[in-house]
Amino acid sequence: MAASDLINLSGLIDDAKCFALVRQHRWPEGACCPVCGSGAVIRDGHDDAQPCRQRYRCKTCSGRFDDLTGTVLAGHHQPLQLWVLCLYFMGLNLSNRQIALELGLDASDVQAMTEQLRRGLVAKTPAVELTGEVEPDARASSGIDEVYIMAGHKGQPAAVAKRAGSGAGAGWQARRAAARWRRTSRPSSA
Ligand SMILES: [Zn+2]
Repeated sequence: MAASDLINLSGLIDDAKCFALVRQHRWPEGACCPVCGSGAVIRDGHDDAQPCRQRYRCKTCSGRFDDLTGTVLAGHHQPLQLWVLCLYFMGLNLSNRQIALELGLDASDVQAMTEQLRRGLVAKTPAVELTGEVEPDARASSGIDEVYIMAGHKGQPAAVAKRAGSGAGAGWQARRAAARWRRTSRPSSA
């Protein structure tokens, strides 16, 4: 076995916990339909290729979705572990180049990932009609920003201040989630 296989960080990360982290971020009050916003959803098996990826069916609009539907994490070739580790390193204030080195990815790929994560977990795609009922999802998505802000963001203080103001509501959830991934104690100004 090559040394690179032994220190493949993403291979050490528990897939089930990654999906649990995503669920906690986007649905702190329980899963709800990304199409109609209804909370009347039932579990509907798991993804064929990713056994930890929960599928759901909406009892209101009969829509089908899963843990990643409508998030920036859906439809990407990078496994979820890499996204979670990327988020973790962002919280430690690593540069894109440093993250790329740690994860064995191209810096350009990491730049695209960090840009998407900063915008929030739940993608704001124009194809999906966002109504007032799905606002809780949008608020939950700010948790990603909170994690990022906690470690400080050098270079764009104005942008951070703006995000901190808009995402203050989900702070405790983000802090709880971040604590699971980051054992270092650092003062939080959020
Ligand atoms: Zn629905």
